[in-house]
Amino acid sequence: MTTFYILTLFPEMVMDGLNTSIIGRAVKNEHLRIEAVNIRDYTMNKHGKVDDYPYGGGAGMVMQAQPIYDAYQSIVERIGHRPRTVYLTPKGSTFSQAKAREFALEEDLIFLCGHYEGVDERVLEEIVTDYMSIGDYVLTGGELPAMVMIDAISRMVPGVLSNEESGQTETFHNYLLEYPQYSRPEEWMGKKVPEVLLSGHHKNIEKWRLEQSIQLTRENRPDLYELYKRQEGK
Ligand code: SAM
Repeated sequence: MTTFYILTLFPEMVMDGLNTSIIGRAVKNEHLRIEAVNIRDYTMNKHGKVDDYPYGGGAGMVMQAQPIYDAYQSIVERIGHRPRTVYLTPKGSTFSQAKAREFALEEDLIFLCGHYEGVDERVLEEIVTDYMSIGDYVLTGGELPAMVMIDAISRMVPGVLSNEESGQTETFHNYLLEYPQYSRPEEWMGKKVPEVLLSGHHKNIEKWRLEQSIQLTRENRPDLYELYKRQEGK
């Protein structure tokens, strides 16, 4: 079973966020395991401190190496190997649907959530295999990025999505954004559902959706559209 371990100072934040809806259901149905490990439980500091001033000066505090390393080791000793370990950081390479698919092939994954000004470089060198960012902005901690990554990766794990929720034709599949979706009623605020979707003619519906996807991608994401064209040999 795919297991996500999250090294964090705020275990309740990640567990509350991930134990709901589709991911919560997947945990209940034993398609996934999610375990938050509280870094503070592993500090040797008698006041429970996990951070200190940065050498060389500068603003803020830095998370110390020892509690993080011991928390990491507690997982490694339990499972008997050193799994791929992701440090969430704005300095990392940008997370993507392709990366989600790649990480979904792993049995065990560890996520290290930084806080304050970041983490002592030496423990990163020791345990981290992947440096991942969720976008070009700075957040207060790695918890939200870890939750974002775990959500996207979980959707790629077999059994997590039901057939109706299948990720096969979604945005980013084949470098295209998804076509517009409509549900009941047929008319709302004077706006009608496109005629073709009511026709029951599956070939025409497919053709319309592909055209919509191509147009949307060309307008909103010219970078993806270029990749789509290249893939289609156009
Ligand atoms: N001083 C760091 C820097 O300039 O790169 C930023 C530290 S940030 C305030 C605190 C923590 O939030 C980081 O250690 C990281 O774990 C997390 N974080 C912030 N922005 C992120 C992003 N865009 N993607 C992933 N993690 C992020």
